Amino acid sequence: MNCSTSPQNEINPNSTHTTCAYCGVGCGIKADIERNKATDTLGQNQAQVVTISGLDSHPSNLGKLCSKGSALGETLAHESRLLFPEILGERSSWDEALDHVANQFSECIAKHGADSVAFYLSGQLLTEDYYVANKLMKGFIGSANVDTNSRLCMSSSVVGHKRAFGTDTVPACYEDIECADLITIVGSNTAWCHPVLFQRIKRHKERNPHVKIVVIDPRRTQTCDIADLHLPVALGSDTWLFNGLLTHLANTQAIDHSFISQHCNGFEEALAAAQASSSNLEAIANACNLDTKDLANFFTWFTEIDRSLTLYSQGVNQSSRGTDKVNSILNCHLATGRIGKPGSGPLSLTGQPNAMGGREVGGLANTLAAHMDFNAENINRLGRFWQTSNVAKEPGLPAVDMFDAIHAGKIKAVWIMATNPAVSLPNTNKVKQALAKCETVIVSDCVNKSDTLEFATVKLPATGWSEKDGTVTNSERRISRQRALFSPAGEAKHDWWAITQVAQRMGYTDAFNYKCAADIFREHAALSGFENSTKANHLRRDFDISLLSDINNADYEALAPKQWPLTSEQLNGTKRFFAHGAFYTPDQKARFIPISPTAPQNKPCATYPLTLNTGRIRDQWHTMTRTALAPRLNQHISEPYVELHPKDALHLGIKEHDLISLESAWGTMTGRSKITKTVMAGSVFAPMHWTASNTRTGLINKVVNPVVDPFSNQPESKHTPVRAKRFNGKHYGFVLTRHQLTDWPTTDYLTEIHGSAHTHLEFAHQTDLNAPLNTLFNWLGYTNEEDALAQSFQVLRYEDKQLGIYRLGLIDKNEQLHAVAILTQTPALPERQWLSSLFTKPKIDTRARHALLSGCAPAGEDVGNIICACFSVGDKTIAKAIAQGCCNVKQVGDKLKAGTNCGSCIPEIKSIIKTCETIEKTNSAKT
Ligand code: SF4
Repeated sequence: MNCSTSPQNEINPNSTHTTCAYCGVGCGIKADIERNKATDTLGQNQAQVVTISGLDSHPSNLGKLCSKGSALGETLAHESRLLFPEILGERSSWDEALDHVANQFSECIAKHGADSVAFYLSGQLLTEDYYVANKLMKGFIGSANVDTNSRLCMSSSVVGHKRAFGTDTVPACYEDIECADLITIVGSNTAWCHPVLFQRIKRHKERNPHVKIVVIDPRRTQTCDIADLHLPVALGSDTWLFNGLLTHLANTQAIDHSFISQHCNGFEEALAAAQASSSNLEAIANACNLDTKDLANFFTWFTEIDRSLTLYSQGVNQSSRGTDKVNSILNCHLATGRIGKPGSGPLSLTGQPNAMGGREVGGLANTLAAHMDFNAENINRLGRFWQTSNVAKEPGLPAVDMFDAIHAGKIKAVWIMATNPAVSLPNTNKVKQALAKCETVIVSDCVNKSDTLEFATVKLPATGWSEKDGTVTNSERRISRQRALFSPAGEAKHDWWAITQVAQRMGYTDAFNYKCAADIFREHAALSGFENSTKANHLRRDFDISLLSDINNADYEALAPKQWPLTSEQLNGTKRFFAHGAFYTPDQKARFIPISPTAPQNKPCATYPLTLNTGRIRDQWHTMTRTALAPRLNQHISEPYVELHPKDALHLGIKEHDLISLESAWGTMTGRSKITKTVMAGSVFAPMHWTASNTRTGLINKVVNPVVDPFSNQPESKHTPVRAKRFNGKHYGFVLTRHQLTDWPTTDYLTEIHGSAHTHLEFAHQTDLNAPLNTLFNWLGYTNEEDALAQSFQVLRYEDKQLGIYRLGLIDKNEQLHAVAILTQTPALPERQWLSSLFTKPKIDTRARHALLSGCAPAGEDVGNIICACFSVGDKTIAKAIAQGCCNVKQVGDKLKAGTNCGSCIPEIKSIIKTCETIEKTNSAKT
């Protein structure tokens, strides 16, 4: 096939077109590199400056990027990289490491059988890596114990799709946003988790004010900023809501009977189940804890507006009823025939850059490659294609069960690639115990520090985003190239290479004899078309890119983004599925699924009266191993936190910025309190990013229950019963220091944050400290004040023993701030933003010096909490601009640039404007 290539894709060593490393939006990136001829300590040419910008020609983002994607260039330093293989903590050669891995796996299989080994993969892997890992485990080792962190992200959508459509097909595409008149966003803080898509929705709404946006989410998130209607549905009650909608559609004659009779089965049963759970509007509103009028509005809009698009994400998937939630949504789209038409359809938003690629190759334990399921015909087909007689006969263990099996000693060797299960799985205390007990834990990663690497018996250095070379698939089925900007750091190797080397050492030489990523891609493409058509020319399987199976290396290098499937009529891809039926079931009809709503398995009780919901924040990605390297991404939210409703805060005696501890039956965590009405009374919210690498006590997945959905095995990350209490510290404080601290102080609460020129520790301690001021010197690495003076620091100090306030500043001989530390008896501490900014100054001036120990910025210098990460604009600067007359987001942007790059902070700017207006109105009412 002649692949279309864009002129921009021609290889230019100083400008590379690639794809973002983070979320499932899959934004195209242009990376411009200023190369420097000097060699670094590793003897490789390194780029001095990488300028990252959105790729205008990429159809998924049309030139836009969010704060995370924009900061990718700041995460490429080698300091945090894993550079050499290690066996049992000792550096080894690649040959030794690969021999060791192959021997460990072979011996384990010989002794205990194929199911005694496992792979745990990641949506961060490229499709080529994923393909060979799955081929080795399912095709040659003969076990299906290969699962992926995508299990935690969207496996409920996979099963929901398969139950309804017969295959895991996403029927819609991003272009549907611009065609839709109603966009319903369910269980997704799109503004923070898929920011570029959110901006796309926002632009569409701004250009077409008639477009209605409905957000269905227990929290009032930043996504509600553009909503005509927010339905704060009770946690776990979505199936009542969508069953109610189906009933309403039937009651108002909005059902597309023609579409159903031609293309669907099971409508009557699904409607009967829906009617049984949703007798009338009031009952549904009651079950969902919603206002009846608001619910009626949504039902009316969905009934009347034909071009209706439903986006959904983790709030739907990460649930013990996730699959039923998905099918309750799909039922409504099938019932109205709103599927596969411009502006109409369900669209699941994937979390990771290559969650979809993993689905294509069978990265989940219950699927085979190329969207094939486990059955005799497919097993036979794969065996013939791969020329193996050892294809796994039945599904393997999904993530939570896999780690339980490791804990039970049934799995004795696990190879974990590009993921951090010691943080990201629920009930992480048990996961860590499992890894500690496991005889062989091989971890392939590009970073040298992660909670999971702590347990590795073998560490394999993998290439990072800027060195990888292959393909990824985004939420709209669009395959894009990820291209290398640099040669690999140290001895890092591509994951596909490491896997194929191990496979060859295990005796599978011919089947894994690939020379490059393109070799693997060609085979993957060929498999997608292998025995994949029927007489009626209807594809047997939806995933087909076989037209790319003879792509040459140059065309692979220049491959432009394409939406699968590729057909002879649609050489550049297919936008939508199912407008005319043709589902992938034996009779080509979609299946309605009767849904009988049930409450989540673990309910709040007297011991654990609150419900914990978890999620993500705007500027961090997963377990922060990469985003935390970009100082500007650490400014917006720098500590683990817990949101709770003012009523609960009052009841618990917790104030804003206090520390709060959450406890469940599985574990505990401590974070900073945020008191807000954006969460419902009775529930708390905490983000999932922090790890043992950056906090001692803020790991939320220690608390999360390990309950899973019965169909998808996706863990319930949105509903854990917990209790909360104020963390009562005797001392609270922070340390900001220019030098890297080798050891963390022994404190009961601690979080580390990286700034551009300093390290920042927040801490709290529950018992009395002896000689507190001296303790601060110790934590900074000095035995006492004399020691610091002896090292030529000017020492500024303040102590008030009566009030328990201790403050310390160290200034070096060049008049640069070296460290500042403050210890008090209350959590009300000075703002750290201004103090942090002093580390970027060549000298500390007199004004700053005078203000240093108070922590209060001189007039006009305090920017407040950073809101706009792109231009480092703080809330106080924005408030000042508003006081000076800026009345809307545009005027704030014109004056400060805030919100004018990625736009992710616009909801927060709006909220500051609103707060300032309220304060002004209250003040003028008083006068
Ligand atoms: Fe990357 Fe942001 Fe685009 Fe997601 S929305 S792919 S994180 S730039």
